[in-house]
Amino acid sequence: MLTVCGLCWLCRMPLALPSWGICSRCVKAISHQSNTCPQCGLPALDPHSPCGRCLQKAPPWQRLLAVSDYVAPLSSLIHRFKFSGKAELAPALARLLLLEFIQARQLFGLPRPDRIVSVPLWQKRHWRRGFNQSDLLCRPLAHWLGCRYETDAVTRIRATATQHHLSARLRKHNLKNAFRLEFPVRGLHIVIVDDVVTTGSTVAEISRLLLRGGAATVHVWCLCRTL
Ligand SMILES: [Zn+2]
Ligand SMILES: [Zn+2]
Repeated sequence: MLTVCGLCWLCRMPLALPSWGICSRCVKAISHQSNTCPQCGLPALDPHSPCGRCLQKAPPWQRLLAVSDYVAPLSSLIHRFKFSGKAELAPALARLLLLEFIQARQLFGLPRPDRIVSVPLWQKRHWRRGFNQSDLLCRPLAHWLGCRYETDAVTRIRATATQHHLSARLRKHNLKNAFRLEFPVRGLHIVIVDDVVTTGSTVAEISRLLLRGGAATVHVWCLCRTL
């Protein structure tokens, strides 16, 4: 999918390759300028080892890649993508994740994923109905990486309360045993794709499920990481 006339979504300059959606100068401006912890993805001094928070209590996933904090201009692009139904932004946003992965793979030797899974749509109550944004991010990523995208990787086996009113402890309790894995994961490198990770309670629960199922690694890729 291309932008309307091959212009960058942010600066409106003509793109060398219209399918990029965002020009290389704007991509540079969007990406993290500061160091982040490799495991939780939050600001940290050393990008090579887990931060103090993770040393005390590590999240269940091994690695979190994020393009940026929830700040402009990326936050406004995500807002347009989610709430204004700008589905044509998906490949440009997915490409930001791909570039982040390529860079991290070169620097840290990350494994190429075997499977990509998305956070189930029913966890995304605030997203526009009838428009699966996760799907639109995962499909091009799987295609570029030559791996499989499991569309219905995780199903809900009991109802969960809306998360945003709950404390961290209650969120965890609310999600415990709420999901079931629908494909064999033993020995596989799995990536969970989400748009914005804040408390991380949903991706944490899915990570636990994948690791209990025998996944070799579970990494989280998100556009924005914020608290
Ligand atoms: Zn631009
Ligand atoms: Zn950390």
